[in-house]
Amino acid sequence: MDDCIMIDNLVVFANHGVYKEEKTMGQRFVISMKLYADLYPAAKSDDLTKALNYAEICSFVTKFTQTHRCCLIEAAAVNIADALLKGYPAIDRVEITLKKPWAPIGLPLDQAAVHLTRSRHRAYIGIGSNLGDKKGYLDLAVRSLDEDENCIVRRVSDYIVTKPVGEVEQDDFLNGCIELDTLYTPHELLDRLHEIENAAGRTRDIHWGPRTLDLDILLYDSEMIHDETLTIPHPEMHKRTFVLEPLSQIAPFAKNPVLNKCAATLLERIKQQ
Ligand code: ATP
Ligand code: CA
Ligand code: CA
Repeated sequence: MDDCIMIDNLVVFANHGVYKEEKTMGQRFVISMKLYADLYPAAKSDDLTKALNYAEICSFVTKFTQTHRCCLIEAAAVNIADALLKGYPAIDRVEITLKKPWAPIGLPLDQAAVHLTRSRHRAYIGIGSNLGDKKGYLDLAVRSLDEDENCIVRRVSDYIVTKPVGEVEQDDFLNGCIELDTLYTPHELLDRLHEIENAAGRTRDIHWGPRTLDLDILLYDSEMIHDETLTIPHPEMHKRTFVLEPLSQIAPFAKNPVLNKCAATLLERIKQQ
């Protein structure tokens, strides 16, 4: 989506900075933004109620910049961009330039500035439980993510009962899948999922053993990541009916970028084996 609203050089007097004088006396900040969103509905109808109101957005940014103090302009810029993405669901991506024309460095300069981009990301989370109140734990995962200010739960699959895989003797699983829009990076999302698992009393005693709650990142945009703590797409997803069935139900065309195949195709493939 290339449509965007551009706001150039909004001047805000605020108190960001490392030095005491900057915090107490304040200074000028100059903010430029590109707000990416589908502008066609407003353009087609010529209707203000369908538009992103840039007057309102400018007051929102002014107030936010004045009330959320940071040491670094990087932090101030990220906070403004995230506040816009949280406050305006129609905005998919924010590109922001934050300039500090009076930066007190004791040398003549026009300005110091940062430029950065923040966007919503689409992730699919596989959820499973086979201990205690299984449905209660899956509901807890959905609720915890929905209540997180950095996430919006878009869809939740039906929960399905599945037989455990692997060597360990254990109870049947309840499995499902969540479609999520998130501002978290992949590693931040993994940390957040671990917190939710811990809140559900998850312990890690036996690998692939019984668990109250297991939350796996299946896909994150079309990213491919492989490091010590995280592999995306989830390396087992294409082998698991208990993952592909709920994923196909809510997102049949979600694509595994490593295999270049969508969920529905991967499910068909294992059903035929
Ligand atoms: P499996 O990953 O085969 O489904 P599991 O879910 O039982 O097995 P866990 O004990 O829950 O495995 O996770 C072990 C570690 O796997 C986690 O601490 C995490 O760092 C890592 N991990 C790597 N990739 C992912 C991912 N895509 N989603 C969740 N965890 C991942
Ligand atoms: Ca798992
Ligand atoms: Ca896991």
